[in-house]
Parts: sequence; structure tokens; C-alpha cells
Amino acid sequence: MLGLYIHVPFCAAICNYCNFNRGLFDADLKSRYVNALLEEIRRAGDSTPADTIFFGGGTPSMLEPDEIAAILDACRRSCALTPYAEISLEANPETVTPERLTAFRQGGINRLSFGVQSFRDEELQRLSRLHSASRAGEAFGMARGAGFDNISLDLMMWLPQQSVADWLESVDALIDVGPEHASLYLLEIYPNAPLRDAMARSRWSVAPDDDAAEMYLEAMRRLDAAGYGQYEISNVARPGRESRHNLKYWTDGAWLGFGPGAHSTRDGTRWRNVSATQEYISTVESGGQLAVERRILSRQDALEEALFTRLRLTAGIDLELVNSQYGVDVWREFGEELHRFVEAGLLIYDGGALRLTRAGMLLAHEVMTVFISSTVR
Ligand code: SF4
Repeated sequence: MLGLYIHVPFCAAICNYCNFNRGLFDADLKSRYVNALLEEIRRAGDSTPADTIFFGGGTPSMLEPDEIAAILDACRRSCALTPYAEISLEANPETVTPERLTAFRQGGINRLSFGVQSFRDEELQRLSRLHSASRAGEAFGMARGAGFDNISLDLMMWLPQQSVADWLESVDALIDVGPEHASLYLLEIYPNAPLRDAMARSRWSVAPDDDAAEMYLEAMRRLDAAGYGQYEISNVARPGRESRHNLKYWTDGAWLGFGPGAHSTRDGTRWRNVSATQEYISTVESGGQLAVERRILSRQDALEEALFTRLRLTAGIDLELVNSQYGVDVWREFGEELHRFVEAGLLIYDGGALRLTRAGMLLAHEVMTVFISSTVR
């Protein structure tokens, strides 16, 4: 089944580490964007059943509830949305109120993903986030009050000045709050990020690599103990609450992206929309071609991607499935090079699947390199 991704490119302020496709909120631009988005969805008309919708950003919770409802209505008219679809909205804690959350829920949103990032105020300030730790807790309580029973929280680790103990404080706070799902990401500071300058000015640094490894491993241990199941390198969930939408990205799924810069993958073809919001709007308004960089995935590209993404999952690479889809016996092809990772306790080969161990997840990129180097030969 299809997943639908809807990109909302507006934020109230730009965080100093952000590398996403977003811009400052502008009410007029937002209205034109919503109209363009509705038009793009209307034009898509697709009879393939879709069972997930994901509003990502940017800050999708800055849209008005009636705008979200109109977008969902357009999706229902244009695509064959299943009645039990998972419909997620990314939300920043400072943007929600009990009334807005109730209205989002009435409009059809049934899963929230809050960008909390940290439960420590000084870390949130270093990241130039607009919310405080207590506001994040309140937002979660408001969401529960509005009836949301499927909530995810994002945390970021390896922040400037963050010690292992600081990080674990946030992990424990998340466990206390008790969401159904959590994503733990390593902060990546891209070359021109304003955070880099702030770090130089304030002489902030990040903990040594060994500490970053301990942050990850201890966080996962505590989440295990609290009853969460890890299903992907960075994601854990209560049983049955894995993100159905994101699983499509990791299991060769098909999805259609709407909005500026949104990517789509379908029937072995991949494309993305023009990125700039203004250009996106004017292209839709003039009836022009939104898709750029359309390419048909070669069998080799598709195989590599299937191996990379499936290795991210704790279920690992189902060797029989890959063999039936791509006609490749992965162990016969790559086993010689993969063997050293098995010996080192980073990878498990049980005859039917290849899975990273927890320690192996820290070195996933090295293991994945085997698939590139071998396939390039
Ligand atoms: S809220 Fe998210 S998308 Fe917006 S600037 Fe901050 S990190 Fe980027």
C-alpha cells in the first residue's frame, strides 16, 4: 500500500542546527501554499490504496486544524485511503493548545510526533529551540487530554556540552512521560550551521566518541527495561506502535510526496518536487511540472538500497526475500567480507537473516560499505 508524505515548510524560528527544507512562517505564503498543496493532491488522483499519511516539516502543527482537515479531505478524495490509516502530524511543543489538538484529532490526525529533542532547558537553549522542557511535558499531557493514544517523542543526543549523565536525564524523563514511540537521533552539525559558530564563540564541545557510544547503548538498555522494543537503529516502540509510515522507507515501500521538496518512490521510479516554496506554488499555479530529478532505479541501485535500509531494522535482511526479489544470494555474494563483522560480534548471520547487533548498530555504515564496494566491482 502507498504512504502519503506531506511537507509543510514553515517554522516560527529557524533552529541553529537545522538542515531541513523550511523557512520562516508567513501567513500569506502559507495560504497560497495550502491552496497549491490541495491542487497538487487533487491532480494526483490514484486508485492504489494508501494506509499512511505523514505530515512532516518544517512545523506542520503551525497549520490551522481546518487546513489539516481540508488536506486530509483532499487525500481521501484523491487516493483510496484505508479506514484504518495511520495519520501522523509532526508537532513542536510550543505550537499546541488543548483546543488545537482536539481539532487536529477531530480532523483525522491519529498519531502525533513531538520534536522534544531534550528535557533539559540549557540544552534546548543551546539548540535555539522555542520550547522549554516543562512545555514539552505539558504538550504531551494536552495531547493525552485530547485523546491521542499514539504519540512519539524525538530526542537528540551528543549535543554541545552534554555529558552522558545529562543525556540519560532526558531519556529517563521520556520514559517517565511514557510515549508509545520514541526516536533517538545523533545531532549532526553540518558545515555552515550557525550552531558551529555558537559553539566556537561559547567554547562548547561535544563529548568524546566513546561517550557517544555509551549514550546510545545505555539509552537503549533503559528503554528495553521500560518495555520498549527497538525496531530500527534510532527507533523504539511499544508493541504494535512502530511507525507504519517510516517502515515503508525501510522496506522497499512506495510513497507519494506532496509539497515543496517532497520525495516520491513508486514502481522503481524516484523523483522529488521543486524545493523552494515560492517556486512550488508558482509551478502548481501555472500548471507546470513539479517533479525534478526523476530517475528509474537500476536493479543495482534498488538492491543496494534494500540492503542498506533493511540492515537498519532489528529484523535485519531477510535473505530469502532478497533472493526472491533481486535474485541475489547475499551471503554467497558478500559473506567473505561480512564474516569479519560476524567474528567481531557486530553482525549475526543465522542462515535466514543478517542482523546487526546493538554494538554493530554503532558501526552500521562500515558494514554497509561492504555492499557498496562489492557491488561496484
Ligand atoms: S523546528 Fe525543526 S524544521 Fe523548523 S527550524 Fe527547527 S529543526 Fe528545522
